[in-house]
Amino acid sequence: MDSPMATMNLLHADHSRLFTLSGRPFRAVYPVLSRRAGGLSIGINLNFDKGCNFDCIYCQVDRTGPLLPEGELPAPELVMEEIAALFEALDSGRFYQETPFGDLPPELRQVKDIAFSGDGEPTLAPSFREVSRAVREFVARRPWPGNAPPPLRLITNGSGLFAGESRRQTAKTFLEDGPGEIWLKLDAADPAHFAFINRSRIPFDRMMQGLDLVVSDLPVTIQTMVLDFGQEGDPEAMPADRTLWDPLLKKVAGWAAEGRAIRAWHLYSVARPPALEGVRKVPAERLEAWAREAAFLPFPVLVFP
Ligand code: SF4
Repeated sequence: MDSPMATMNLLHADHSRLFTLSGRPFRAVYPVLSRRAGGLSIGINLNFDKGCNFDCIYCQVDRTGPLLPEGELPAPELVMEEIAALFEALDSGRFYQETPFGDLPPELRQVKDIAFSGDGEPTLAPSFREVSRAVREFVARRPWPGNAPPPLRLITNGSGLFAGESRRQTAKTFLEDGPGEIWLKLDAADPAHFAFINRSRIPFDRMMQGLDLVVSDLPVTIQTMVLDFGQEGDPEAMPADRTLWDPLLKKVAGWAAEGRAIRAWHLYSVARPPALEGVRKVPAERLEAWAREAAFLPFPVLVFP
Protein backbone atom coordinates (compact mmCIF):
# COMPACT_ATOMS: atom_id res chain seq x y z
CA MET A 1 0.00 0.00 0.00
CA ASP A 2 1.25 3.53 -0.77
CA SER A 3 2.12 5.84 2.14
CA PRO A 4 -0.01 9.00 2.56
CA MET A 5 2.93 11.09 1.29
CA ALA A 6 3.32 8.88 -1.80
CA THR A 7 -0.41 9.18 -2.42
CA MET A 8 -0.23 12.96 -2.15
CA ASN A 9 2.66 13.07 -4.60
CA LEU A 10 0.61 10.95 -6.99
CA LEU A 11 -2.42 13.20 -6.54
CA HIS A 12 -0.34 16.33 -7.18
CA ALA A 13 0.91 14.77 -10.41
CA ASP A 14 -2.49 13.47 -11.52
CA HIS A 15 -4.84 16.10 -12.86
CA SER A 16 -6.89 13.67 -14.89
CA ARG A 17 -10.35 14.83 -15.93
CA LEU A 18 -11.65 11.26 -15.58
CA PHE A 19 -13.25 10.82 -12.19
CA THR A 20 -15.62 8.15 -10.90
CA LEU A 21 -17.68 8.16 -7.71
CA SER A 22 -19.88 5.25 -6.61
CA GLY A 23 -19.53 3.80 -10.08
CA ARG A 24 -20.68 7.00 -11.76
CA PRO A 25 -18.24 8.45 -14.28
CA PHE A 26 -18.09 12.24 -14.09
CA ARG A 27 -17.55 14.05 -17.35
CA ALA A 28 -17.27 17.78 -16.65
CA VAL A 29 -16.33 18.07 -12.98
CA TYR A 30 -13.19 16.61 -11.42
CA PRO A 31 -11.32 16.98 -8.12
CA VAL A 32 -7.54 17.52 -8.04
CA LEU A 33 -4.94 18.24 -5.41
CA SER A 34 -3.48 21.53 -6.56
CA ARG A 35 -0.10 22.89 -5.49
CA ARG A 36 -1.00 26.42 -6.46
CA ALA A 37 -4.49 26.38 -4.94
CA GLY A 38 -2.97 24.95 -1.75
CA GLY A 39 -5.27 21.92 -1.46
CA LEU A 40 -8.36 20.39 -2.95
CA SER A 41 -9.54 22.09 -6.11
CA ILE A 42 -12.74 21.27 -7.97
CA GLY A 43 -12.10 21.61 -11.70
CA ILE A 44 -14.72 22.28 -14.33
CA ASN A 45 -14.00 21.15 -17.86
CA LEU A 46 -16.20 22.86 -20.44
CA ASN A 47 -13.91 21.91 -23.32
CA PHE A 48 -14.88 18.33 -24.21
CA ASP A 49 -13.78 19.27 -27.73
CA LYS A 50 -10.31 20.12 -26.28
CA GLY A 51 -10.68 23.46 -28.04
CA CYS A 52 -7.93 26.01 -27.56
CA ASN A 53 -6.45 28.79 -29.64
CA PHE A 54 -3.02 28.06 -28.13
CA ASP A 55 -1.03 24.88 -28.64
CA CYS A 56 1.42 25.18 -25.75
CA ILE A 57 4.42 22.88 -25.92
CA TYR A 58 3.85 21.89 -22.29
CA CYS A 59 0.10 21.27 -22.60
CA GLN A 60 -0.85 17.98 -20.98
CA VAL A 61 -4.05 17.64 -22.99
CA ASP A 62 -3.68 14.82 -25.48
CA ARG A 63 -5.26 16.09 -28.67
CA THR A 64 -4.20 13.08 -30.73
CA GLY A 65 -6.84 10.65 -29.44
CA PRO A 66 -10.63 10.57 -29.69
CA LEU A 67 -12.61 13.40 -28.15
CA LEU A 68 -14.37 12.79 -24.84
CA PRO A 69 -17.18 12.24 -25.37
CA GLU A 70 -17.33 12.46 -29.12
CA GLY A 71 -17.75 16.03 -30.23
CA GLU A 72 -20.38 16.74 -27.59
CA LEU A 73 -20.19 19.89 -25.48
CA PRO A 74 -21.27 19.80 -21.84
CA ALA A 75 -24.75 21.10 -21.14
CA PRO A 76 -24.96 23.48 -18.17
CA GLU A 77 -27.42 21.05 -16.53
CA LEU A 78 -24.82 18.27 -16.63
CA VAL A 79 -22.17 20.46 -15.03
CA MET A 80 -24.50 21.56 -12.23
CA GLU A 81 -25.72 18.01 -11.62
CA GLU A 82 -22.12 16.82 -11.25
CA ILE A 83 -21.16 19.73 -9.01
CA ALA A 84 -24.12 18.97 -6.72
CA ALA A 85 -23.28 15.25 -6.64
CA LEU A 86 -19.63 15.90 -5.84
CA PHE A 87 -20.41 18.31 -3.01
CA GLU A 88 -23.00 15.90 -1.63
CA ALA A 89 -20.26 13.24 -1.49
CA LEU A 90 -17.84 15.70 0.13
CA ASP A 91 -20.43 16.69 2.74
CA SER A 92 -21.30 13.10 3.61
CA GLY A 93 -17.64 11.97 3.69
CA ARG A 94 -18.31 9.36 0.98
CA PHE A 95 -15.84 11.17 -1.27
CA TYR A 96 -12.98 10.35 1.10
CA GLN A 97 -14.07 6.75 1.58
CA GLU A 98 -14.24 5.96 -2.11
CA THR A 99 -11.32 7.81 -3.68
CA PRO A 100 -7.53 8.14 -3.22
CA PHE A 101 -8.26 11.51 -1.59
CA GLY A 102 -8.98 9.55 1.62
CA ASP A 103 -5.28 9.94 2.50
CA LEU A 104 -5.45 13.73 2.52
CA PRO A 105 -4.67 15.27 5.90
CA PRO A 106 -7.51 17.36 7.37
CA GLU A 107 -5.89 20.70 6.44
CA LEU A 108 -5.97 19.78 2.75
CA ARG A 109 -9.58 18.57 2.76
CA GLN A 110 -11.09 22.02 2.52
CA VAL A 111 -12.14 22.94 -1.01
CA LYS A 112 -9.76 25.76 -1.93
CA ASP A 113 -11.37 26.78 -5.17
CA ILE A 114 -13.73 25.87 -7.98
CA ALA A 115 -11.59 26.32 -11.06
CA PHE A 116 -12.64 26.75 -14.67
CA SER A 117 -9.76 24.99 -16.34
CA GLY A 118 -10.12 21.68 -18.15
CA ASP A 119 -9.07 20.50 -21.58
CA GLY A 120 -8.98 23.83 -23.39
CA GLU A 121 -9.52 27.55 -23.04
CA PRO A 122 -12.64 27.94 -20.83
CA THR A 123 -13.66 31.32 -22.23
CA LEU A 124 -14.01 29.77 -25.71
CA ALA A 125 -16.66 27.29 -24.52
CA PRO A 126 -20.16 28.38 -25.60
CA SER A 127 -21.57 27.59 -22.15
CA PHE A 128 -18.84 29.41 -20.21
CA ARG A 129 -20.86 32.41 -19.07
CA GLU A 130 -24.04 30.48 -18.32
CA VAL A 131 -22.21 27.80 -16.34
CA SER A 132 -20.05 30.27 -14.44
CA ARG A 133 -23.13 32.22 -13.36
CA ALA A 134 -24.87 29.00 -12.29
CA VAL A 135 -21.82 27.89 -10.27
CA ARG A 136 -21.69 31.31 -8.62
CA GLU A 137 -25.35 30.91 -7.60
CA PHE A 138 -24.66 27.38 -6.33
CA VAL A 139 -21.81 28.65 -4.13
CA ALA A 140 -23.97 31.50 -2.81
CA ARG A 141 -26.90 29.16 -1.98
CA ARG A 142 -24.92 26.50 -0.13
CA PRO A 143 -23.98 26.67 3.53
CA TRP A 144 -20.23 26.57 4.24
CA PRO A 145 -20.15 25.67 7.94
CA GLY A 146 -16.87 26.70 9.55
CA ASN A 147 -15.33 27.84 6.27
CA ALA A 148 -15.55 30.77 3.90
CA PRO A 149 -17.02 29.88 0.49
CA PRO A 150 -14.26 28.87 -1.92
CA PRO A 151 -13.41 31.36 -4.66
CA LEU A 152 -14.33 30.77 -8.26
CA ARG A 153 -11.16 30.78 -10.28
CA LEU A 154 -10.82 31.30 -14.01
CA ILE A 155 -7.60 29.88 -15.44
CA THR A 156 -7.28 31.48 -18.84
CA ASN A 157 -4.95 32.52 -21.63
CA GLY A 158 -6.97 35.75 -21.73
CA SER A 159 -7.93 35.59 -25.39
CA GLY A 160 -11.66 35.32 -24.61
CA LEU A 161 -11.52 38.51 -22.58
CA PHE A 162 -10.26 40.93 -25.22
CA ALA A 163 -13.79 42.21 -26.00
CA GLY A 164 -15.14 44.68 -23.44
CA GLU A 165 -18.48 42.94 -22.98
CA SER A 166 -16.88 39.58 -22.15
CA ARG A 167 -14.55 41.30 -19.65
CA ARG A 168 -17.48 43.04 -17.96
CA GLN A 169 -19.50 39.83 -17.68
CA THR A 170 -16.50 37.89 -16.40
CA ALA A 171 -15.73 40.60 -13.86
CA LYS A 172 -19.28 40.43 -12.57
CA THR A 173 -19.32 36.66 -12.15
CA PHE A 174 -15.78 36.10 -10.93
CA LEU A 175 -14.98 39.25 -9.01
CA GLU A 176 -18.05 41.22 -8.01
CA ASP A 177 -20.71 38.66 -7.11
CA GLY A 178 -18.55 36.70 -4.62
CA PRO A 179 -14.98 35.60 -3.97
CA GLY A 180 -13.15 34.96 -7.21
CA GLU A 181 -9.91 35.31 -9.10
CA ILE A 182 -8.63 35.35 -12.65
CA TRP A 183 -5.35 33.59 -13.31
CA LEU A 184 -3.95 34.93 -16.55
CA LYS A 185 -1.33 33.12 -18.61
CA LEU A 186 1.79 35.05 -19.65
CA ASP A 187 4.49 32.59 -20.66
CA ALA A 188 6.42 34.90 -22.97
CA ALA A 189 6.61 38.60 -23.74
CA ASP A 190 8.69 38.48 -26.91
CA PRO A 191 7.63 37.17 -30.32
CA ALA A 192 10.16 34.31 -30.58
CA HIS A 193 9.33 32.69 -27.25
CA PHE A 194 5.59 33.30 -27.66
CA ALA A 195 5.70 31.51 -31.03
CA PHE A 196 7.83 28.70 -29.61
CA ILE A 197 6.03 28.08 -26.31
CA ASN A 198 2.40 28.95 -26.98
CA ARG A 199 2.23 28.19 -30.74
CA SER A 200 -0.92 30.29 -31.08
CA ARG A 201 -2.63 31.42 -34.26
CA ILE A 202 -3.11 34.81 -32.59
CA PRO A 203 -0.37 37.19 -33.74
CA PHE A 204 2.02 38.26 -30.96
CA ASP A 205 1.22 41.98 -31.22
CA ARG A 206 -2.52 41.31 -31.11
CA MET A 207 -2.05 39.08 -28.07
CA MET A 208 -0.05 41.68 -26.15
CA GLN A 209 -2.53 44.45 -27.01
CA GLY A 210 -5.34 42.18 -25.86
CA LEU A 211 -3.62 41.38 -22.58
CA ASP A 212 -2.99 45.10 -22.02
CA LEU A 213 -6.78 45.57 -22.25
CA VAL A 214 -7.48 42.65 -19.94
CA VAL A 215 -5.18 43.90 -17.17
CA SER A 216 -6.50 47.45 -17.59
CA ASP A 217 -10.01 46.24 -16.58
CA LEU A 218 -9.52 43.18 -14.41
CA PRO A 219 -7.40 42.36 -11.37
CA VAL A 220 -5.42 39.24 -12.25
CA THR A 221 -2.87 36.80 -10.95
CA ILE A 222 -0.28 36.26 -13.65
CA GLN A 223 0.88 32.71 -14.20
CA THR A 224 4.06 31.93 -16.10
CA MET A 225 5.13 28.41 -17.03
CA VAL A 226 8.92 28.28 -17.17
CA LEU A 227 10.52 25.32 -18.94
CA ASP A 228 13.66 24.27 -20.72
CA PHE A 229 13.39 22.62 -24.08
CA GLY A 230 15.89 20.14 -25.52
CA GLN A 231 19.37 19.22 -24.38
CA GLU A 232 22.38 21.53 -24.26
CA GLY A 233 24.14 21.65 -27.64
CA ASP A 234 21.00 20.59 -29.50
CA PRO A 235 20.37 23.16 -32.29
CA GLU A 236 16.62 23.00 -31.49
CA ALA A 237 17.17 23.63 -27.76
CA MET A 238 15.37 26.62 -26.23
CA PRO A 239 16.37 26.99 -22.59
CA ALA A 240 14.51 29.43 -20.35
CA ASP A 241 17.26 32.01 -20.06
CA ARG A 242 17.62 35.82 -19.98
CA THR A 243 16.17 36.13 -23.47
CA LEU A 244 12.88 34.83 -22.06
CA TRP A 245 13.03 36.38 -18.60
CA ASP A 246 14.12 39.96 -19.39
CA PRO A 247 11.13 40.77 -21.67
CA LEU A 248 8.76 39.05 -19.22
CA LEU A 249 10.01 41.09 -16.29
CA LYS A 250 9.91 44.29 -18.37
CA LYS A 251 6.31 43.61 -19.42
CA VAL A 252 5.07 42.87 -15.91
CA ALA A 253 7.04 45.77 -14.41
CA GLY A 254 5.45 48.02 -17.05
CA TRP A 255 1.97 46.89 -16.00
CA ALA A 256 2.89 47.51 -12.36
CA ALA A 257 4.20 51.00 -13.18
CA GLU A 258 0.90 51.77 -14.92
CA GLY A 259 -0.90 50.83 -11.71
CA ARG A 260 -2.55 47.65 -13.02
CA ALA A 261 -4.29 45.63 -10.33
CA ILE A 262 -2.05 42.58 -10.32
CA ARG A 263 -2.58 40.38 -7.26
CA ALA A 264 0.43 38.08 -7.62
CA TRP A 265 2.78 36.49 -10.14
CA HIS A 266 3.20 32.70 -10.15
CA LEU A 267 6.37 31.25 -11.65
CA TYR A 268 5.97 27.49 -12.00
CA SER A 269 7.38 24.59 -13.92
CA VAL A 270 6.28 21.30 -15.37
CA ALA A 271 4.64 18.95 -12.85
CA ARG A 272 3.06 16.40 -15.19
CA PRO A 273 4.21 14.72 -18.40
CA PRO A 274 3.63 17.17 -21.25
CA ALA A 275 2.52 16.23 -24.75
CA LEU A 276 5.81 17.19 -26.37
CA GLU A 277 9.04 15.33 -25.84
CA GLY A 278 11.96 17.62 -24.97
CA VAL A 279 10.06 19.77 -22.46
CA ARG A 280 12.01 19.80 -19.19
CA LYS A 281 11.36 21.11 -15.73
CA VAL A 282 13.65 23.98 -14.71
CA PRO A 283 15.58 23.80 -11.43
CA ALA A 284 13.89 25.48 -8.47
CA GLU A 285 16.95 27.72 -8.01
CA ARG A 286 16.34 29.46 -11.34
CA LEU A 287 12.73 30.28 -10.47
CA GLU A 288 13.80 31.48 -7.04
CA ALA A 289 16.57 33.67 -8.51
CA TRP A 290 14.09 35.25 -10.92
CA ALA A 291 11.57 35.80 -8.12
CA ARG A 292 14.29 37.64 -6.16
CA GLU A 293 14.94 39.88 -9.17
CA ALA A 294 11.23 40.65 -9.30
CA ALA A 295 10.99 41.38 -5.57
CA PHE A 296 10.70 45.14 -6.26
CA LEU A 297 7.21 44.58 -7.73
CA PRO A 298 4.33 45.72 -5.51
CA PHE A 299 2.78 42.24 -5.33
CA PRO A 300 4.03 38.78 -4.31
CA VAL A 301 6.08 36.77 -6.80
CA LEU A 302 5.64 33.11 -5.84
CA VAL A 303 7.47 30.07 -7.16
CA PHE A 304 6.06 26.57 -7.63
CA PRO A 305 8.97 24.46 -8.91
S1 SF4 B 1 -3.68 27.50 -23.17
FE1 SF4 B 1 -3.91 25.81 -21.71
S2 SF4 B 1 -5.27 24.31 -22.76
FE2 SF4 B 1 -4.53 25.75 -24.31
S3 SF4 B 1 -2.77 24.71 -25.20
FE3 SF4 B 1 -2.02 26.08 -23.56
S4 SF4 B 1 -1.90 24.80 -21.72
FE4 SF4 B 1 -3.18 23.70 -23.22
